[in-house]
Amino acid sequence: MTFEALGLNTSIIKALTDAGYTKPTPVQEQAVPAAIAGQDLLVSSQTGSGKTAAFMLPSLHRLSASEPAAAGKTPNQEMQAARARGERPRFKAAQPKMLVLTPTRELALQVTTNTDKYSVNLRRLKAVSILGGMPYPKQMQLLAKNPEILVATPGRLIDHMESGKIDFSQLEILVLDEADRMLDMGFIDDIEKIVEATPDTRQTMLFSATLDGVVGNMARRITKNPQVIQIVSAANKHENITQRVHFVDDLSHKNRLLDHLLRDDSLDQAVVFTATKRDADTIADRLNIAGFSAAALHGDMHQGARNRTLDSLRRGQVKVLVATDVAARGIDVPTITHVFNYDLPKFPEDYVHRIGRTGRAGRNGLAISLVNHAEGMNVKRIERFTKQLIPVNVIEGYEPKKTAAPRSTSRPGGWKPGDNRGGAKPGQRTFSKPNAPRRDGAGAGGGGYKGSNPRSTDGARRSYGDR
Ligand code: ADP
Ligand code: MG
Repeated sequence: MTFEALGLNTSIIKALTDAGYTKPTPVQEQAVPAAIAGQDLLVSSQTGSGKTAAFMLPSLHRLSASEPAAAGKTPNQEMQAARARGERPRFKAAQPKMLVLTPTRELALQVTTNTDKYSVNLRRLKAVSILGGMPYPKQMQLLAKNPEILVATPGRLIDHMESGKIDFSQLEILVLDEADRMLDMGFIDDIEKIVEATPDTRQTMLFSATLDGVVGNMARRITKNPQVIQIVSAANKHENITQRVHFVDDLSHKNRLLDHLLRDDSLDQAVVFTATKRDADTIADRLNIAGFSAAALHGDMHQGARNRTLDSLRRGQVKVLVATDVAARGIDVPTITHVFNYDLPKFPEDYVHRIGRTGRAGRNGLAISLVNHAEGMNVKRIERFTKQLIPVNVIEGYEPKKTAAPRSTSRPGGWKPGDNRGGAKPGQRTFSKPNAPRRDGAGAGGGGYKGSNPRSTDGARRSYGDR
């Protein structure tokens, strides 16, 4: 993918080339074309993934194509003219076309610096930072030039709005950068007030580490029919999700083990991933016969049936969802405690998506892969991708006949001791007895979940049973 293919104009592409950018990052690939098309966006993607350019490039593209600021004099020229006429100059409010809100001064300055870089060949477009801690006269000077782009922290911006120095009636684009941090810092009322002052016709883009909870609610309130872009990166460690591998000898061993694990006391709701639609149906049927309230979810089902199944899952009527990858993307049900890979995913990225169905909204989760001995290489591929080792677990009474090859030497690239917070040390086996009392006092658990987690012993980790 190239920047040209994203639809950006040549002035911007030249600036990017000069800045040493050779190709767009994944979040830019998705966000830029949608934003050029005028779509509202909700984006979550990891720090350092290039979000600034993801919103700034399409905005510069659009602003450079739209009408220049109202013809006539800038507020600065107007004041000079008034002085020349011997009148007392009245400050005319700046009328920016784009506003970027950021939680901190440092970030605002960074965004402005990047914008200057991307817009070097677009003379008309100027970006200005409005920040707490900057002297007012200096800011008045900046505003008097009527910049097209304002980058601001919410508190100081409100001051200027209230004293009539900024008028948002011409605003076309609103960006909330690091929205989750702004909310953490208590800016919600300020943000609401600022949004309120902008035209309904604006394009809104919100960037945040998470789109769950409070941020998600606000995001949906202030955007219209947004495109949601979530980039899950390899570095996303899912630290609140404990991962395990159980080796199985054959299908019947796999099924017996799954049934056993599904009866774990700590299990509230679970998603079981299968490779095929047919398997999803078959396993859901089998689990229903075995007494679990299970339902299948896959791409062959009509949207209506899929929605009904998801509603039943949300209402807790379905305890075990048996799903294929496609259907399960984006499921956000906080009461899902367990994810099972009945089959391993084809691509390591999908593993990360799958296990992310549990451990939502700050809760803990458990992700268990049931793996044939022949699939050991696929586990290693996943480990290399996530840069985490997945501890192997064995449950008494369900031991595989074959023992897996020792994995103590299989350190994936970049893995460091201590990274593997989710479980045992490399190569260490963790055993658990089905009816051993749980250390957190949550009753007799079948899965040995606590036993495989070193953090459970030091009290630093919240008990899994305290949801
Ligand atoms: P984020 O906001 O996602 O944390 P930034 O927008 O601050 O990330 O970008 C992180 C760094 O990557 C910056 O130094 C930026 O200049 C650089 N960068 C962004 N996009 C590209 C790209 N397509 N190619 C090369 N470097 C990039
Ligand atoms: Mg950023």
